[in-house]
Amino acid sequence: MTGEAASIPALEMRGITKRYPGVVANDHIDLDVRRGEIHALLGENGAGKTTLMNILYGLARPNEGQILLDGQTVEIAGPSDAIGRGISMVHQHFMLVPVLSVAENVVLGAETMANGVFLDTREANKRIAEFAARFGFALDPEAKVGTLSVGQQQRVEILKALYRDARILVLDEPTAVLTPQETEEIFALLRKLADDGRSIIFISHKLYEVLAVADRITVIRRGRVIGERKPGETSEAELAELMVGRAVELTVDRGESHAGAPMLQVEGLRVGDDRHEAVPNATFEIRAGEILGIAGVAGNGQDELIEALIGLRKPSAGKVRLGDLDVTGFSPRAMNEAGVGYVPGDRHRFGLILAFPVFDNLILTSYYRAPFARGSLRQDSAVLESADAQIEKFDIRVPSSTVATSTLSGGNQQKVIVAREFDRPLKLLVLDQPTRGLDVGSIEFIHRQIIAKRDAGTAVLLVSAELDEVMEISDRIAVMYRGRIVAEMDGRTADKSQVGLLMATGGDARPEEARA
Ligand code: ATP
Repeated sequence: MTGEAASIPALEMRGITKRYPGVVANDHIDLDVRRGEIHALLGENGAGKTTLMNILYGLARPNEGQILLDGQTVEIAGPSDAIGRGISMVHQHFMLVPVLSVAENVVLGAETMANGVFLDTREANKRIAEFAARFGFALDPEAKVGTLSVGQQQRVEILKALYRDARILVLDEPTAVLTPQETEEIFALLRKLADDGRSIIFISHKLYEVLAVADRITVIRRGRVIGERKPGETSEAELAELMVGRAVELTVDRGESHAGAPMLQVEGLRVGDDRHEAVPNATFEIRAGEILGIAGVAGNGQDELIEALIGLRKPSAGKVRLGDLDVTGFSPRAMNEAGVGYVPGDRHRFGLILAFPVFDNLILTSYYRAPFARGSLRQDSAVLESADAQIEKFDIRVPSSTVATSTLSGGNQQKVIVAREFDRPLKLLVLDQPTRGLDVGSIEFIHRQIIAKRDAGTAVLLVSAELDEVMEISDRIAVMYRGRIVAEMDGRTADKSQVGLLMATGGDARPEEARA
């Protein structure tokens, strides 16, 4: 490659502007990405990152601006045009077919695009083996995708991109669902891809990851480029301030808890179906004014435990008490009325109706009650007034409460759920990944709200794949392994590596001993 060719960026986005009703999502954004570079795109929720990437991928049309690939202006008509030009997107929500093999998933789409219905899996097996050898990762082409870990599925997504000869790879929060070890493996892989001359655009809210993996960082705020940094020349604190526009406390002081009487008492709880007993026997309690954090690798019974506590699953044995009330087997609505708030891990499946306006989602669990209903009549003015007050209080960035919730950025969708669930007196608050996908400013805000709820006497159950989050705000930590609580400890004195080890191995402790 000549010096001149090497100096031409692989991708240039110039003056990109995208307006939606009431919002300028991208406001004259300039971004250039070189060959062999990992370029991080940072910005708070709603800053415009996804919009910019959707424009690059042909999913949205800019109102103004130009895209240049290797110095040539291009018009990107849609995703298949983008893929044809060497641009690939690895989505946050994987788009894989679980019952098909790795090779079939990789070939699917690419082959159907290229030559109709034939799936040449033999050729795919060969190429997958080549890629795996070249980039040093293990993946069995014949394994069914549904049997793979999340980290391996991520690699299948990356393989798909490589198979389509991607030269520019966009990864939107690729590590959100990975364990720390899987994250390191993905980073090593990204570095090899970059060394191979590909360009990587990496979107993440985790500042330490961005500092660890990126060559350059572009920060955008409210649709505009605010600055560009190299990792060696900046810090988490500076990046946070650039993103949010003010200094951010990266760890919120949880303060002292003043725990009262036991509020949630779970005894001998068994949850599961005929084939699989996800939670064989759980016994624990949370006192009023206390945060119990559950640490555990995803898939160790946390989901089933939560579903039993909020009424989505009937336990097959055991008791659940809320204050003086036996709530075992209550329906979700009965749990809600008994004073249980719930922030679900998968906000699209359980938390929101995306096609509905924001104001409807804010009353999803209370629409039938005063002041929002009188008899069977909805009280529109009360609904709208309450929505405006919550939008203000929880700093939800929307042009108005009447827009469809699907048009909000991921972080702002999460704030809608938090506003709905937190803004009433609660006995128990069940939080499943409450800050997934949120920016540092919103995490600070939500952590403060959680602590305020605790200080108002609510018992809080926090389940999070982010061990740091569990360590930072829990008063007490329970480690869950294969459906059992294998250890409990004080949140202030717990040791992170010890918790990590218990998460991975279950330790030697049996629940009875751990509790003794
Ligand atoms: P997050 O980190 O929360 O995912 P983001 O930086 O990716 O945020 P975008 O999703 O790009 O942010 O959103 C930028 C702005 O554009 C937001 O205010 C959002 O509400 C708005 N927006 C995005 N898509 C649409 C749409 N289809 N219609 C209307 N407004 C939209």
